[in-house]
Amino acid sequence: MRATIARTATLRPGRAEISKAEQTRKRVAELAGGLGIARVGAVRLERFPELARVREWLERGYAGEMHYIARRLAEREDATRLLPGARTALVAAVAYDNGEPDSRAPRPARAAWVSRYAWGDDYHEVVRARLEAWIAALASEYPAATFRSYVDTGPVPERLLAERAGVGWIGKNACLIDPELGSYLFLGVVLSDLEVESDPPALDHCGTCRACLDACPTDAFPEPRVLDARRCISYLTIEKRGALPDELRAGIGSHIFGCDLCQEVCPWNQRRGRPLAAEPGFAPRPEWRAPDLAELLALDDDALRTRLRDSAIARAKLAGLRRNALIAAGNARDPALLPAVERWLDSPDESLSDAARWARARLTTLASPH
Ligand code: SF4
Repeated sequence: MRATIARTATLRPGRAEISKAEQTRKRVAELAGGLGIARVGAVRLERFPELARVREWLERGYAGEMHYIARRLAEREDATRLLPGARTALVAAVAYDNGEPDSRAPRPARAAWVSRYAWGDDYHEVVRARLEAWIAALASEYPAATFRSYVDTGPVPERLLAERAGVGWIGKNACLIDPELGSYLFLGVVLSDLEVESDPPALDHCGTCRACLDACPTDAFPEPRVLDARRCISYLTIEKRGALPDELRAGIGSHIFGCDLCQEVCPWNQRRGRPLAAEPGFAPRPEWRAPDLAELLALDDDALRTRLRDSAIARAKLAGLRRNALIAAGNARDPALLPAVERWLDSPDESLSDAARWARARLTTLASPH
């Protein structure tokens, strides 16, 4: 299978093939029109040298407990393991920013923060539906070709492929940035055996800016574009199971699911007149726009499960979300949250009783008068 990739990458297509592949590139982009996809790009698959950095990143331990990345590294490096004969990655970007105030705007002390990508319906389903509509159009035009879509659902290096396909550049905050749309984007990838000419790769526009690196409250960037997930609030509140590291709890602030700080400070997300998301499914659900910590901690399992239905937040699991809410309550410095916290002191789940003890100590020793 690797030979297939090598042949694709090293044999120079003739002029007629280039012209056909170029026409195909234009046509696949046209077929994405009207489907709610903000940007598309195409890139021929090869063994991208940047992928070597993933191995180094794993060796440094920066993946934390995300062992699934190492387990499927060979597929990440060679897309033909996912789709035999794959030659091309078609990349789609779907915008999700609705222009609402970010986490730095004044809010009640008891209000938690959920990363804005998770305010509405689960993006996996919304973006998958758009990719499937695109694939239906592609399959009708190219019936002999095979297509397979990925939305955070397989070992596909979405951001690298998006950068190579000209959709945007990978900023120092490790997010994919489109100069017009910013970085509040969901990425989807369609692998195909269709021969498509690559778009020109995107250029880096970060320049000397380092706002994202300086804004990270837990120092999660050991160097630009390199994220130590073990220190990243997004990883800690979504992927990490069990107790959170003591030394990072204060830096987590009010975040209970994900973190937007390194994107909020990015000048490319602050440009006036940026196109905003038009998808009704991404409209904020009131319960996740600024959830009240006391109310959240009072929900029983059934009520919390109901709230998590069709939401990306479900990934944190009930225990993870409650643990995060307890940490956020400890950081809120509002003694009125004490009863909500104390309810979890005797939880049989050690990660919850531990977080409740920590929060109670913070609320009783650090509470500021209101
Ligand atoms: Fe690049 Fe500055 Fe945005 Fe960071 S904040 S991604 S350095 S432009």
